[in-house]
Amino acid sequence: MSVFPLFINGEFVTTTATNKISSPSTGEVITEVSIASASEVDAAISAARAAFDRGPWGSLPAEKRKTYLLNIAQGILDNAAELADLETRNTGKPIKESTFMDIPSAARTFEYIAHNFENFLKDAAPKMEAEASCRLLREPMGVAALIVPWNYPLLIACWKLASALAAGNSVILKPSSLTPLTALVLGRIIHAADLPRGAVNIINGNGDDIGRQICSDARVDLISFTGSNEVGGKIVGFTAGYPKKMIMELGGKSASIVMADADLDVATNCCLCSIFLNQGQMCTAMSRILVEDKIYEQFVEIFVAKAKKIKLGRGEDFETQIGPLISQVQRDKVMGFVEHAVKEGAKVLCGGKIPNTPGLENGFFFEPTLIGEVTPEMKICQEEVFGPVACLGSFSNEEDAIRQANNTPYALAASIWTSNQLLAQKMAEKINAGTVWINTYGMFYPEIPYGGFKQSGFGKELGREGLLEHTRLKNIITDQSKDGKPLVNYWYGF
Ligand code: NAD
Repeated sequence: MSVFPLFINGEFVTTTATNKISSPSTGEVITEVSIASASEVDAAISAARAAFDRGPWGSLPAEKRKTYLLNIAQGILDNAAELADLETRNTGKPIKESTFMDIPSAARTFEYIAHNFENFLKDAAPKMEAEASCRLLREPMGVAALIVPWNYPLLIACWKLASALAAGNSVILKPSSLTPLTALVLGRIIHAADLPRGAVNIINGNGDDIGRQICSDARVDLISFTGSNEVGGKIVGFTAGYPKKMIMELGGKSASIVMADADLDVATNCCLCSIFLNQGQMCTAMSRILVEDKIYEQFVEIFVAKAKKIKLGRGEDFETQIGPLISQVQRDKVMGFVEHAVKEGAKVLCGGKIPNTPGLENGFFFEPTLIGEVTPEMKICQEEVFGPVACLGSFSNEEDAIRQANNTPYALAASIWTSNQLLAQKMAEKINAGTVWINTYGMFYPEIPYGGFKQSGFGKELGREGLLEHTRLKNIITDQSKDGKPLVNYWYGF
């Protein structure tokens, strides 16, 4: 079995320490991957630093960077089938999702950023009343550490990479040690795109082993992290001795609000997708469904009937609609949430257990689950489950719906289902979340900045604002006084 190498300073590095990667669908070992030790982490940071400070990358004209970004996009498209297959075998997500969502969106992100970043980096000079002019310069931060979770390994890596590189930073990319395969293939694509050495370095390893070293190193200027609140908090701690710029994309407990005038067929279909896509392992999973009380019973009947028809299976099968969870640990956690909810008085309306479907015994499957008779303070309504489990509540009017939607420590996303557009827009303004979808769900566009508030983090990915997160703003102030003597010249009266 060949071992997936790391990618450091333009070279593929196979380490003696390796990690086995198993399929969440079958438990079988798929492949082995290299693991970075402290010296490989150090080599990656040194390479990124040198590429930025002395190598060609840091001083490359924007036009050249654009060409590289477009070449990476093309490389992703040329290798789309392999990437989709690997993503599915590594994460267990249905191949339909990898093929039609993750991989094309990753390429599209590079394309969009490539075509727009030069415009986004231009800042208008401020109008001055003083006798001086000012030029604003958008500069890269320097070395960016990009730390990525296991739920969308390639896509989230590409969101971060495209903006970081477009802005002119050099990069250390660290995928989750559970799902490093597509990021490591990306190393091959970047190598083929002929980027200058050290511009992108990709290292794999357990976060607790190498995370502190990456995040506390003074040579790293920016940390862009997507993951759990627990690890996000640790990273903030690691940087205490040497504060640096951070982008934090953390957890969520988002709500779908279904008004009585919604098209129930569409709303139930979309509520199913918004909690069961990727087995509910989405930061923007709508894990709370709030339904106007007049249609509560009807909603339950339709939702449960449809949920029972969703096809569980191995991620690799094209008919599969729900694959396995990422690991045994994750499934135990999800099961623990359901058991706890039942102890607190909630009722399982469908699912809630490990399926007994023949052929799925060795994977980490869990049935699509709806929990009813919940109260807002229950753990299942407050904490992120990160699995195919929604809790169902009801509301009496729009104020009640907004109050409940806002009643968690998170503020990542929400969706509203109604035929009253005006009402939906007004409600959206009052919802405390970085994204509100109206009569749609889950569409991410590279044009639109994305990111949450409160405990869901800070900073944006994508769009102009996502790009600017990877820059620093310099002002260059020039005297424009008519006699060439600025006011400060007269201060001491000499
Ligand atoms: P995680 O926090 O366990 O891991 C995320 C990354 O951090 C991985 O690469 C991991 O190896 C690394 N890491 C772990 N320990 C570290 C340490 N001590 N120092 C530095 N890095 C360390 O998250 P996960 O389980 O991979 O992903 C699930 C979480 O990600 C969920 O909470 C989900 O909501 C969140 N998420 C958020 C968004 C968003 O955009 N807001 C998107 C996707 C996932």
